[in-house]
Amino acid sequence: MGDEMEFDTTTVRGRGKPDPTTGAIIPPIYQTATYVLEEVGRDKGFDYTRSANPTRQTMEEHLAALEGGRFGVAFASGMAAVDTCMKLLGSGDHIVCSDDVYGGTSRHFNKLMGNYGVHFTYVDTEDAANVEAAIRPETKMLWIETPTNPLLKITDLAAVGEIAKAHNLLYVVDSTFATPVFLKPLEYGVDVVLHSTTKYLSGHNQLIGGVLITNREDLFESFKFIQKTVGAVPGPFDCWLTILGLKTLHLRMARHWENAEKVAAYLEGHAEVAEVIYPGLPSHPGHRIAVEQMSGYSGMISFELKGGLEAGEKMMNSVELCMLAESLGSVETMITHPATMTHAEVPREERLARGFPDGLVRLSVGIEDANDIIADLEQALQNA
Ligand code: PLP
Repeated sequence: MGDEMEFDTTTVRGRGKPDPTTGAIIPPIYQTATYVLEEVGRDKGFDYTRSANPTRQTMEEHLAALEGGRFGVAFASGMAAVDTCMKLLGSGDHIVCSDDVYGGTSRHFNKLMGNYGVHFTYVDTEDAANVEAAIRPETKMLWIETPTNPLLKITDLAAVGEIAKAHNLLYVVDSTFATPVFLKPLEYGVDVVLHSTTKYLSGHNQLIGGVLITNREDLFESFKFIQKTVGAVPGPFDCWLTILGLKTLHLRMARHWENAEKVAAYLEGHAEVAEVIYPGLPSHPGHRIAVEQMSGYSGMISFELKGGLEAGEKMMNSVELCMLAESLGSVETMITHPATMTHAEVPREERLARGFPDGLVRLSVGIEDANDIIADLEQALQNA
């Protein structure tokens, strides 16, 4: 099987063939630390699982194929993938970064990378001119999240791609919220696509994982080197679970999107709701770019109640079907209070400056029946 397959076929089948040793239709879980050599200097392509493992390799190839990329390198978490990108940099280097990134990413940048002399400028990348204006002679990398977590800001990847090219900068995109079903960043000149596979890609709240995908052989070699040197690798069972998740990704995403459209329309028409943020709504400031570069908008919605923080808290404490939980991108609908949960370490002034209020509610719309999700939100809003 090759690159000529339609996307849905690649989703189900990856790049894989049946297991070469047994013909097993599902890749076996190669739960082994090491591999016996045939003789000194001759192995069967694997020597130690920190460096490579057949189940992990099958998953890495599957993930790369979905992004239309040549190489995938997997990590034990999305954050380990973020950390690997940071290891491409050195003291004195500077990064221009989207201002509304996941709180764990900005925590890593601000609280760890600062110690190593790496500097960051955060700008609203919805306007590519802000990216250009922030570039300094020591800038090495552009870090874009689109849609962002939690404000769902959209960056014009082609426009930023021109800037990256003109200044010879490494261009990294965290595409966790979009998934390759709806966005293919590599088509816009991006060097590295990052995913927290914890979310939609594995899809069932069953594991933590991350991946980096690239077409550049030099970056692939660097990522493989860091992977084997640091060892923040996913275990074979987690890789196997991710492969199973990937096989239904296209179907799940279609339903996440369908349900989210219904929930967004319901929320937008609700008297208690002050603002609904969803890239699929014409009211979203990034809607025009989203329509151009994405083929759908997944299940992430953020909104604010007229009653602010107090009403939001009451609502989140009243849900019954929707679950108050940190994560996103799973089949179950989850509701989050970003200011105290996912982005608790982002200073309040910084949050407010980027238009991220205390009372913001983030909803990861699952694939249950949309009527049940809306009925639960309705009863919770009545209590707010
Ligand atoms: N990137 C985004 C956009 C995220 O939302 C997250 C986690 O929520 C991460 C990266 C980090 O991934 P992980 O939790 O798998 O380490």
